[in-house]
Amino acid sequence: MTTQAGARLLEGAPIADEIRTGVAAGVAAFEAANGRPPGLAVVVCGRSAPSMVYLERILKACAQVGIAGRLVDVPGDDPATQAAALTAALHELNADDTVSGIIVQMPLPAGIGLKVVVDAIDPAKDIDGIHPLNAGLLRLGFEGFVPATAHAALEMLARSGATVAGAEAVVIGRSPVVGMPVASMLVKGGATVTVCHSRTRDLAAHTRTADILIVAAGVPGLVTGAMLKPGAVVIDVGINVVDGHLVGDVDFASASEVAAAITPVPGGVGPLTNALLLAHLVRAAQRQATERSDPAAQGDA
Ligand code: NAD
Repeated sequence: MTTQAGARLLEGAPIADEIRTGVAAGVAAFEAANGRPPGLAVVVCGRSAPSMVYLERILKACAQVGIAGRLVDVPGDDPATQAAALTAALHELNADDTVSGIIVQMPLPAGIGLKVVVDAIDPAKDIDGIHPLNAGLLRLGFEGFVPATAHAALEMLARSGATVAGAEAVVIGRSPVVGMPVASMLVKGGATVTVCHSRTRDLAAHTRTADILIVAAGVPGLVTGAMLKPGAVVIDVGINVVDGHLVGDVDFASASEVAAAITPVPGGVGPLTNALLLAHLVRAAQRQATERSDPAAQGDA
């Protein structure tokens, strides 16, 4: 499908469907071999955060493919007791063989640092790649769990047919969940990568060199068509609400006049993220089952 202006539209839904079909088959095979489905624990510290909508969507997606998803509420009225309860909950889930993967609601409540999670979560169950071991494996070029959003951006790029090796790639954003893992994966794929961020002096000077542009800044309309190299492949990871509507970081109308291919928001990277998170869960479950039946296989990738 192409946009009105002629760029190829990179839609997430058909790819997400295909991934979910593979996940459902993996879940069925796991259940047949192990007598139980893979399990996902979604740990929440207070249900009022806006991220509850996202987490409930993940649990619904689990149910659709046969994964045993459950919410784990962390009690506590003040940051100190809640941090201790979060640590205890993570230790319990780490030790529970029916739990194959764990994700923790972000952002954490004020006063509880990410370090509480990374100190407690088992890297083998860290399916959204926040643990330093998984981040380190990615940096060193080995296989671990990468954050699902970063994986989704790269999967979309792969499906666009763009050649990564040798390409000039520009990433806007340097966060540990999107920008930096995306940059590491592009380097691994052989691209020449520039990472831009809020302190970059002349953003357009960089974006105009990009054969591949991945934008994850959280700033609506940050990238316009005038900032693109003609024929670029543009992956917009941004999700912003403007006047009650979801928009990305890229001005879609002007960018689609210049780009060869572009993701819409909504409907681009977003749908892929959840599907890939579930694919990570099935991989975690399979690895844990292999390690339980053959402890000597521990560490095999
Ligand atoms: P973040 O706030 O942690 O990081 C934003 C990054 O953008 C920072 O590195 C910052 O330096 C950079 N930045 C901010 N303003 C900039 C500017 N004017 N010019 C250049 N760089 C700038 O955000 P994040 O968690 O990395 O998320 C980024 C975006 O991706 C957000 O819109 C978020 O909602 C979205 N997101 C989407 C998904 C998905 O599934 N599609 C998942 C997670 C996050």
